[in-house]
Amino acid sequence: MPEELLFSTPELPSSLYIHVPFCVRKCLYCDFTSYPYSSDGEREYLTGLEREMALWKKNVAGERWTLSTVFIGGGTPTCLSPSGLGEIITNVGRHFNLAPDLEYTVEANPGTVHRAGLEALRHSGVNRLSLGAQACCSNTLRTLGRIHSHQQTVDAVRQAREAGFDNINLDLIFGVPGQTRVGWLGCLEKIIALRPEHISAYGLQLETGTPLCAMVDDGILQPCDEELGLDMYYSAIDTLQDAGYRHYEISNFALLGRECRHNLVYWHNGGYLGLGPAAHSRLGMRRIANEERLDSYLGALVGESLPVVRCEDLSVQDDMFETVFLGLRLAAGLDLESFLERFGVSLEQVYPGLAERLIREGFLAIDANHLSLTRRGLAMANPVMAEFVPITKS
Ligand code: SF4
Repeated sequence: MPEELLFSTPELPSSLYIHVPFCVRKCLYCDFTSYPYSSDGEREYLTGLEREMALWKKNVAGERWTLSTVFIGGGTPTCLSPSGLGEIITNVGRHFNLAPDLEYTVEANPGTVHRAGLEALRHSGVNRLSLGAQACCSNTLRTLGRIHSHQQTVDAVRQAREAGFDNINLDLIFGVPGQTRVGWLGCLEKIIALRPEHISAYGLQLETGTPLCAMVDDGILQPCDEELGLDMYYSAIDTLQDAGYRHYEISNFALLGRECRHNLVYWHNGGYLGLGPAAHSRLGMRRIANEERLDSYLGALVGESLPVVRCEDLSVQDDMFETVFLGLRLAAGLDLESFLERFGVSLEQVYPGLAERLIREGFLAIDANHLSLTRRGLAMANPVMAEFVPITKS
């Protein structure tokens, strides 16, 4: 697609995602785009990223572009040097306007943070820290190939508080080979005791091509039984709700008012700009994917071109499906009035009888004009959502 068209976005999204493609060491379950950290790699990446920001600013009137959420993820942003991470934050501030109530998140690995670095982040305007705790017991951390211990998670939370962070997320994974129900409940207790404002709890996905998946395929590790995985999920919902966390999205829990605003943009099927290798953007009805490989990403930018590998204009049907699919992830559910406003037709007109059947079957519920998954529906979320796939795509 010609570059002018890429830049011809009808609306400037107010959310920015930046992908940092480095980690200290690859975790055994991970299929994200990340490379072992090197200072040379960092320098090349920072130069490329700054060029990418400048290209968007120059071609899309960036001085008018105001961000209300920024999320620096990866990879492991905190494996960059403090000055490298600081450079990204400075460049975001140079190329975009920042809203006064900006939510500014940086992901961190508990094994790569220290007090001074966290203080520098806080002083530079970052106000939300997302720590990849993933597990508390050392066996599970070892199975996942994490580089840190639970004690390092505890220390990271303490240091983040001392540095002034009052908005912290801890990521957790359940359904790990060898993990028991008792171990998982113990982990939830330890995490709750740290009182983060936000907790994400994801079921482990065994991604093809990862060492963990190969160990399961080779019979070295036993996969988590499906029923046990489901039990862990429901026990997380109950335990976290009892501890005061609102279950506001399939895998996410927050204290009152501490929902992740950046991720809510995704779940409301809103627009966002993604920068860095393997980042994705949603601009109006256009979906854009960046080059995944770091060398291809950098190569495009050396030639002053956007590092775009795919660009797709969504059909209205695709957009409707995504709105339903993402809306059903939220506990509040899909807002049927907003759907009508956005598309000019009701959900019932697009999918005659479907919601009614799923309500009858006990997977969906309707309340105050919102359609949401029931507790039973949560366990079947993917097949339920797949019912809304447009005919042409199935
Ligand atoms: S730290 Fe995160 S991005 Fe890096 S290898 Fe582990 S799971 Fe993947």
